[in-house]
Amino acid sequence: MINIVLFGKPGAGKGTQAEFLKEKYNLTHLSTGDIFRFNIKNNTELGLLAKTYMDKGDLVPDEVTIQMLQSEVDKNPQSAGFLFDGFPRTIAQAEALDAFLATKNQEITATVALEADDNILVARLLERGKTSGRPDDQDEEKIRNRYQEYNEKTAPLMDFYKAQGKFHAVNGIGTIEEVTARLTNVFDTL
Ligand code: AMP
Repeated sequence: MINIVLFGKPGAGKGTQAEFLKEKYNLTHLSTGDIFRFNIKNNTELGLLAKTYMDKGDLVPDEVTIQMLQSEVDKNPQSAGFLFDGFPRTIAQAEALDAFLATKNQEITATVALEADDNILVARLLERGKTSGRPDDQDEEKIRNRYQEYNEKTAPLMDFYKAQGKFHAVNGIGTIEEVTARLTNVFDTL
């Protein structure tokens, strides 16, 4: 069983690459952003709560996010492995994930980061916002806030996973196929 954290700033291409990787490696793709958006669309209590944070580009509180992620993992007991996309985003989430997987005699196999320059990513997100309908993609101020959240709360995870010897990085700039090939090279060594 392999459990991978796909890591990267908003707009780095995690979702796009996950679509391919989940098929190739037979992994269950769990995107916390997608799950929150699904809940918003369906007007659930969780969706209403998450929306108040997401619309501003703030992170949803750890407690809520961790509980949701754990219940999604538990919904897939037959899974051959998970591809976590957009989770963990804080040290508290990463610690909770390690502890949760340990209760199942499992662990994170590796974290693979897609690296790209902020300015390229902001332009990408504004472009995506024209068609995605996501309020958090349409306003540069909200996008900048998402980067601030990333720098403050998520970037420290790189050292967290480096300390465990589980951190890999690939260049996220290039065509979708080029980036997929770089990721595949790393996955094939795991
Ligand atoms: P994403 O689709 O991954 O860009 O996530 C969109 C938004 O959902 C983020 O800006 C956060 O508001 C929220 N979100 C997604 N994943 C998490 C997480 N692991 N922790 C807290 N908030 C999250």
